[in-house]
Amino acid sequence: MLEQLKAQPADALLALIKLYAADERAEKIDLGVGVYRTADGATPVFAAIKAAEARLLADQNSKSYLGPEGDMGFVRAIMPWMLGDFDPAGRIDGLQTPGGTGAVRLAADLLLKAGVRRIWMGTPSWPNHVQILNAVGLACETFRHMDVATQRLDFNALEAALDKAEAGDAVLLHGCCHNPTGADYSETQWDEIAETVAAKRLFPLIDLAYHGLGHGFEADGYGLRAVLSRVPEALIAYSCDKNFGLYRERVGALYVMTESPAQQASVQSNLAALARANWSMPPDHGAASVRIVLEDEGLTKIWLDELASMRARMRGVRDALAAHQAIGSVNLAAVGQQNGLFSVLQLTSEQIAALRADYGVYMAGSGRINIAGFTDANIPHFIEGLRAVTA
Ligand code: PMP
Repeated sequence: MLEQLKAQPADALLALIKLYAADERAEKIDLGVGVYRTADGATPVFAAIKAAEARLLADQNSKSYLGPEGDMGFVRAIMPWMLGDFDPAGRIDGLQTPGGTGAVRLAADLLLKAGVRRIWMGTPSWPNHVQILNAVGLACETFRHMDVATQRLDFNALEAALDKAEAGDAVLLHGCCHNPTGADYSETQWDEIAETVAAKRLFPLIDLAYHGLGHGFEADGYGLRAVLSRVPEALIAYSCDKNFGLYRERVGALYVMTESPAQQASVQSNLAALARANWSMPPDHGAASVRIVLEDEGLTKIWLDELASMRARMRGVRDALAAHQAIGSVNLAAVGQQNGLFSVLQLTSEQIAALRADYGVYMAGSGRINIAGFTDANIPHFIEGLRAVTA
């Protein structure tokens, strides 16, 4: 039987990590892997999380099962941060999932079970979106999120797609810090999207994997609130793996907004059943640590300060890149306007290969760069390489 299986292509980013590790040049720059880094190239455990983990270790007296919904204290503690001043009036609840990935998977499962057959999404996107949606059996319709050459959001393409979408179709939207383009909708655009989604009775799935890493919780949640305040039903896939630095602990949640509070019990029972069939229960440690941070004012303050310094560092890098305006085909000024961990540069695969071979600059084949891979010290080297390969 197993000889029927065709070998799958190796994950390109993982291959890139190996190549980077084997490169002995001191001036090499890693812009590939999608995690936050300090100016020293580290991805440390947050101080607030370290403190919460110490408490967890001291106080936890059982590892007994929790249930498919995970740690509901964690799930509910995220809600005020996620929703800001939006009052869910008993219409939103959720469950813990293994990372944002698990939340997207469960969202797709639930949509299918509820009768949705088609979902619209902008591209490029996080590559796993299309894999998950297809694995579940949803038909994926795509539109261009951004014109990489001009670095402009293609809002016309989105409008045309929503125009073609039919009542009962779902639409997947990145809440903030779009992966991979960093190009987010303006508040006016979000209002317009929300109006159309509501008028056409489309089902919104908002993926919020970088909440707080753009301009802060309030600003980064504008789009989510704009949509929630206009539609009867919505799904929110939330990840704490970036904004609490918990990547490998797999911390996420899926929230559902129902038309009335009375519908929550049935929806939650469906989510629990789907979770049981997928992974039974989510891992506890990371979510419990997040809960401990959010239950404690002092730890919450430490966490918010850590996030603020991450934001400031990424903003500083973006400003430093943007100061170079344009180099060859690459519009760096736009990078200054974008948000979060990523941007995509307009480079050919030959130029990307030359940057790696001649300058030790490692980036994904798509031209995606990790903003946190830059430092004040390595930007001049990167710019020199960019000038050379685009000349
Ligand atoms: N959605 C988007 C847009 C992402 O970029 C990611 C992670 N890279 C996820 C979801 C999944 O996050 P997690 O690592 O928590 O599974």
